[in-house]
Amino acid sequence: MFLEQIENTEGKFINWAGSYEYTSSKLYYPKNVEEVQILVKNLDKLKVLGTMHCCHGIADSEENLVSLKYLDKVINLDKDTLTVTIETGIIYGHLAIYLYKNGFALHNMASLPHISVAGACATGTHGSGTKNGNLSSAVRAMEIVTATGDIITISRDKNYEEFYGMVVHLGGIGVVTKLVLDVQPVYMMKQMVYENLRFDQLKDHFIDIMSSGYSVSLYTKWQDKMLDQVWVKRRVEHGKENDYEKELFGAKQAKENLVFGMDAGNTTDQCGIVGPWHERLPHFKLDHTPTGNGLESEYFVDLDKAYEAMLAVDEITPHLWESEIRTIAADDFWMSPFYKRPSVAIHFLWKQDFDAARKLMLKIEEKLEPFKAIPHWGKLFMVEPGKFKEFYPKLPDFVNLCKKYDPNRKFRNKFLDNFVFNNA
Ligand SMILES: Cc1cc2nc3c(=O)[nH]c(=O)nc-3n(C[C@H](O)[C@H](O)[C@H](O)COP(=O)(O)OP(=O)(O)OC[C@H]3O[C@@H](n4cnc5c(N)ncnc54)[C@H](O)[C@@H]3O)c2cc1C
Repeated sequence: MFLEQIENTEGKFINWAGSYEYTSSKLYYPKNVEEVQILVKNLDKLKVLGTMHCCHGIADSEENLVSLKYLDKVINLDKDTLTVTIETGIIYGHLAIYLYKNGFALHNMASLPHISVAGACATGTHGSGTKNGNLSSAVRAMEIVTATGDIITISRDKNYEEFYGMVVHLGGIGVVTKLVLDVQPVYMMKQMVYENLRFDQLKDHFIDIMSSGYSVSLYTKWQDKMLDQVWVKRRVEHGKENDYEKELFGAKQAKENLVFGMDAGNTTDQCGIVGPWHERLPHFKLDHTPTGNGLESEYFVDLDKAYEAMLAVDEITPHLWESEIRTIAADDFWMSPFYKRPSVAIHFLWKQDFDAARKLMLKIEEKLEPFKAIPHWGKLFMVEPGKFKEFYPKLPDFVNLCKKYDPNRKFRNKFLDNFVFNNA
């Protein structure tokens, strides 16, 4: 094969957190879409790697791995249709800088700007905000190299049903080579952290608290019936700075940058300092990569049941760094955990002790079972594969869609077989 192929002779490639070793040690780096097509035609099996932030084998292949990191350009910004077309190796941080410089913005970002746009959209990655859909909800069209090496384009306007099946695709349809995303005029933001919110305030005020900003995150270690921090990110509309209240349901404004478990210098500016959208929506700065010192789990439950679900999570120290609670608006993507369901995300950042985390996941999953808690596609969970058919009513349709574009299972792997294909 004439394409550059990296054989990792020192061992296997590992994910971002260093917690998962990919099975194949063969990695290809195509430099343009034609090379992607040739690769796909020539290889029997392959999986695309994004920035490898998933905690398990969703991007793994026993045979061939492909990275699109050289396809990382912005192709076109259309100011009339309010869209940006990108190659899919680009990370959010770089796309955001480009958009900001050109007077535009995305609707939301995840906690880190270091994640690839394509990898995030593939798994329904989200930020926060009661009115904000997950990051995939910005996708307006996709270019995909399917198993034959042919290119298809699919868009929100033209391919109604298939589009909603393909946006959150878990890597199962083909190689996504271009994405067209919705953009909006640039906006400025600021964020304020409040400390020590009493847990019982959530009973009657959960929605008020989570709507107190454009994007709001709660942080807790589940101790002393207390939420340690509330991060309130607000848009600064029409030049108004929108002053923050001194107290938020009894929680007090922090006087300095705060974060759990790492250097607060890594965080985007807090304390109400106004800055561009892409330097406030993510919690971490682009040029300060936080260390991958943790294992992640996250479960999504009905927004209406947020308080009861959180009440069910008992004290779980000492194996936890912290938990983050966010909200996500409902969407229509078949394999999105937020399909037709406004949701609350209950996230756990475990210390790097898989055995301890596994036991706690089992315990938490049992407690959250009555709430139909759906795990994040990219994070660790212990949920039985058989449950996924119940979580995703459109799973059989998604499987048919994958079979249509990938009849010979080129893009399938153990993770997809286990949690998707064997459940159709
Ligand atoms: C520190 C950290 C912070 C995180 N923060 C958040 C957060 O705030 N919110 C949240 O929801 N999640 C968060 N996540 C989870 C993360 O966003 C998801 O795991 C996401 O899918 C990772 O994207 P990636 O580019 O690293 O993809 P990978 O892990 O490399 O791959 C993910 C999937 O996308 C597929 N894929 C990637 N690119 C392509 C392509 N071009 N064509 C076809 N398939 C492709 C892969 O095959 C795989 O199936 C976080 C994870 C970490 C480790």
